[in-house]
Amino acid sequence: MARIVMKFGGTSMAGTERIRRVAGIVRRQQAAGHSVAVVVSAMAGETDRLVNFCREANPLFDPAEYDVVVASGEQVTSGLLALTLQSLGCKARSWLGWQMPISTIEAHAKARVANIDAAELIAAMDAGEIAVIPGFQGVSGAGRITTLGRGGSDTSAVAVAAAVGADRCDIYTDVDGVYTTDPRIVAKARKLKAVTYEEMLELASVGAKVLQTRSVGLAMKEGVRVQVLSSFIDDDATPADDLPGTMIVSEAEMEKLLENGEMERQHVTGIAHDKNEAKIILTRVPDKPGAVAHIFEPLAGASINVDMIIQNVGRDKGETDVTFTVPLTDLARAQALLEDRRDSIGFNRIITDSKIAKISVVGVGMKSHAGVASTMFRALADRGINIQAITTSEIKVSVMIDEDETELAVRVLHTAYGLDAPDEAA
Ligand code: ADP
Ligand code: ASP
Ligand code: MG
Repeated sequence: MARIVMKFGGTSMAGTERIRRVAGIVRRQQAAGHSVAVVVSAMAGETDRLVNFCREANPLFDPAEYDVVVASGEQVTSGLLALTLQSLGCKARSWLGWQMPISTIEAHAKARVANIDAAELIAAMDAGEIAVIPGFQGVSGAGRITTLGRGGSDTSAVAVAAAVGADRCDIYTDVDGVYTTDPRIVAKARKLKAVTYEEMLELASVGAKVLQTRSVGLAMKEGVRVQVLSSFIDDDATPADDLPGTMIVSEAEMEKLLENGEMERQHVTGIAHDKNEAKIILTRVPDKPGAVAHIFEPLAGASINVDMIIQNVGRDKGETDVTFTVPLTDLARAQALLEDRRDSIGFNRIITDSKIAKISVVGVGMKSHAGVASTMFRALADRGINIQAITTSEIKVSVMIDEDETELAVRVLHTAYGLDAPDEAA
C-alpha cells in the first residue's frame, strides 16, 4: 500500500460535474489499495475574480485581508469534493490550512510553507479516510490566513506529500503531461516521458506555468516523486500507478532512461515564454563606480526582482544607458521609485515598454554542447525577429523580443531544435 497525494487544478475543479469526475478518479486511486490525500485549487477563474474584488475595494489593498478573500476559493472546492466523495460512499473530510495546520512565514500573498503538522492527517489517511486539503492556503505564526502566491496549490501538494512521506505526488491538470513547449501554442509540441528537476525548475521559472516554480524547488529538495497527468480521462484510462503522465526525475534517473532508450538525448528539452515582464531603460546614467548600485538597491529594498540587465559600453562624457526588466505587476512601483531618485542616480530619461516577451530554451544537454545559443539567434534572425536582450545560465538561453512575435518565435525555435512531433500522416 502506498501513500499518494493527488492535486487537481482549477479547470479540473470548475463546477460540480467536473468535481464528480475528479471524485471518481480519487475513488479509483484509493480502490487500487492506497491511502490518499487530495489537494484542490479554486474553480478556474475564481481566484482572478476574487483578486478583482480586492482591487475594487481598495487598490492599495492590505495583503493580509487579500489573503482572507482569495483563500476562500479553495475552501469552497475542498468542501464540495468532500461532499461528492461522500455521495459516492467514500469516507472523506476537508482539512483547512489552519486545521492541519500548514504553517507558513508571515509574507502575505507570497508566503512559504514553514512546517506541516501531518500526524493526524496520516492517521486519518491510513484509516481509509480521504483527506481533502484546499491548496494555496496556510496559516501564519500570528494565526492569520496566508496564501502561497498564484499557482500555489502545486506547492501545497508537494509540501503535503513531503510531510506525509508520500510515495508519489500526482499533479492532475488540463494537459496530459509536460510538453516540449506549451501545447496550446505549438500543436506539434511533444509530450515528455520525464524531465529532470533542474530542467523543470528552469522551465517553470521562465514561464512554463504547468507547475509553480516553488513546487519544483521543494520537490527537488525533499526528493518528492512528482507526476504531471491529465484529469480529463475516461474510466478505462491507464491508471496513474502505471505512470501515464510526465515524471519529474533526478539526473541519475534520467541517465538510466537515456541508456535504456526510453528517452532520446536532446540538447534542448523545452521552450517557454513569458509575457509578464516589462523593460525599463535609463538613459545617460553616469559611467562610474556605484551608479548601478544606486539604481538597483531601491528596487531590491522594495522586493522588486530584476531579471535581465544590460549596461552599454560608456559613451562620450562618461555616460551610459542601463536597460533591465522587472515583473509587469511591479512596473509602476519601480518607475515611481526611480523617478524619486532621479537626482541621486543621475539619469536623463526613463523609458518603459511593457510589450515585450522573454523566450527561453532550456536543457541540461547544453552543458556539454556548444552552439545552442547561435542556433537560436540564427533561427530568429531568419524570420526577422529582433533580439533586444540576451541572458544565459548553464542550462538556459533567454532572449527578449517584441511581444507580438511571441507565438512565431516559439514555433520557429521548436522547429529549429528538431522538437516538432512527426506529421500524423507520415
Ligand atoms: P492548473 O489549473 O491545473 O494548475 P495551469 O493552467 O496552471 O493548470 O497549468 C496547465 C497549463 O500550462 C496548460 O494548460 C498549458 O497551456 C500550460 N503550459 C505551459 N507550458 C507547458 C508545457 N511545457 N507543458 C505542458 N503545459 C504547459
Ligand atoms: N487558485 C490559485 C490561483 O489561481 C492557486 C492555484 O490554483 O494553484 O493562483
Ligand atoms: Mg497551476
